[in-house]
Amino acid sequence: MIYDALIIGAGIGGLTTAALLAHDGYRVAVLEGHIEPGGCASSYRRTRPDGTSYVFDVGATLFGGFQLGGAHDWVARRLSLRFPVVPLEPAMQVWLPDRVVTRYGDPDAWREERMRAFPAQAVAAERFWQNQEAIAAIAWRFAARHPPMPLETTGDLLGLIPTLRPEMIGLLAHIERTVGHELRRYRLTDPALRAFIDAQLLISAQVPADECAWLFGSVALDLARQGVFYAEGGAWSIARTLADAFIRDGGELRYRTWVGQILVEGGCAVGVRLADGEELRARQIIAGQTVGDVARLLGEAAPHRLLHVMKTTPESWGAFTLYLGVDEPQIPTGIPAHHQVVRRYGEPLGEGNTAFISLHPAHDTSRAPAGQRAVTISTHTRVGPWWAARAAGQTAYRERKARWAEDLITAAERVLPGLRGHIRYQQAGTPVSFQRYTRRERGMVGGLGQRPTQSGFRSLGARAAGVPGLWLVGDSTFPGQSSAAVTQGAIRLYKTLRRG
Ligand SMILES: Cc1cc2nc3c(=O)[nH]c(=O)nc-3n(C[C@H](O)[C@H](O)[C@H](O)COP(=O)(O)OP(=O)(O)OC[C@H]3O[C@@H](n4cnc5c(N)ncnc54)[C@H](O)[C@@H]3O)c2cc1C
Repeated sequence: MIYDALIIGAGIGGLTTAALLAHDGYRVAVLEGHIEPGGCASSYRRTRPDGTSYVFDVGATLFGGFQLGGAHDWVARRLSLRFPVVPLEPAMQVWLPDRVVTRYGDPDAWREERMRAFPAQAVAAERFWQNQEAIAAIAWRFAARHPPMPLETTGDLLGLIPTLRPEMIGLLAHIERTVGHELRRYRLTDPALRAFIDAQLLISAQVPADECAWLFGSVALDLARQGVFYAEGGAWSIARTLADAFIRDGGELRYRTWVGQILVEGGCAVGVRLADGEELRARQIIAGQTVGDVARLLGEAAPHRLLHVMKTTPESWGAFTLYLGVDEPQIPTGIPAHHQVVRRYGEPLGEGNTAFISLHPAHDTSRAPAGQRAVTISTHTRVGPWWAARAAGQTAYRERKARWAEDLITAAERVLPGLRGHIRYQQAGTPVSFQRYTRRERGMVGGLGQRPTQSGFRSLGARAAGVPGLWLVGDSTFPGQSSAAVTQGAIRLYKTLRRG
């Protein structure tokens, strides 16, 4: 039997593509190595000896794209499904060394807050923010028309034309610029404001202002205003909802099924070989992995162009994560669910100098035993030193993990004073764990940094593997990381396949 499409991995990108195709009557199978869908946007359950349990989010905890017209919303309407999400307001709090900034979604509240929090250059900063919001508004309207980006064929170019509008002409001048250029244009030197912007870009664009493409950055700085959401029951509820729709529409979802190789014949992708040796064939192969992982699955069939892309693409971040069960009374009442802590000004971000803390809302009692809350803390980290520690032996690796865990708990105590004495459960995740869990190369997560050379029209696209019949979806392709972004990429791929 030949499938219309085989999808490797039930991450949000692969699963969304699969569900959209199955809904249109295509014969589709999803092959997922794990027992749950969602990949980096999934959850896991830890059951205690007394039968109670925690549900921890593996990676993603805070979700965009469910607002009217957002990428997840588009999919929900198309598939007639309802994602179990609730809006969050405010989106988060950012704890700088000397102040706390609340990221409201409400535009007026956010304007007031930024003027209060950064008084040093409030007037100039206001011009920057208003320009950022104006550019982001144009970019959001463009994204809602699902432009075929990046341009990979003349068909894409023809498809792009109807999505262009006169309001976009002004954006051309910004294509090569970075957020740093814009900050300099407004002479914004306030270290607190710069640290705030760098920290926000780190979690949404993976690079700080001086490296971040301005057009992407203007959108990334706008996420709170667009609306952010909590997934009831944990992140895995999003992927489970997609998986249910996929199965409802006749899709075949195989768990515990690792793909070992993408089969190429006559220069075209024709199927996959599973880890147990079984071969499956399809007209289209869709890989929900990073470019590096796809090259590995192609083996000797990987084109030179793909190998070149891998060599020339800067390394992505890894994540160090802590999954904690915490006494409920230790969580101050009424605080937002998400917090970003910047510990020291003037030092590079990530590597424990920034931490992202997520508490599930108190109303969702499915996440932790009574009287406790599930808390996750993460920081960006380079993957190399983790693999070096692992190679040095279990003791070195464990010591490093324990040291980093202590460091992140100290960071989180800014938000949750006395946390250390109230932890009932603790587990850490490193790039080594992420590699084992998601099979992503050396545990690199979060997609590519959105530098002008890797962003927008210069991003990798669905055809980046350079093998006919093989398509890429997920956070190493346009528009990048986050559940909403990979969904946008999935919609784009679905539309391409339907056309073709
Ligand atoms: C710590 C952390 C925090 C994050 N926070 C947020 C956040 O708050 N909000 C947000 O929107 N995004 C966040 N992200 C990013 C977001 O999770 C990802 O960008 C997105 O989920 C990636 O989806 P994907 O489709 O590219 O695939 P992935 O999530 O990488 O999934 C790929 C799937 O493929 C499977 N697979 C891999 N190889 C094979 C194989 N050979 N055979 C079969 N199956 C295979 C894996 O098991 C996995 O299920 C975070 C990520 C991390 C790591």
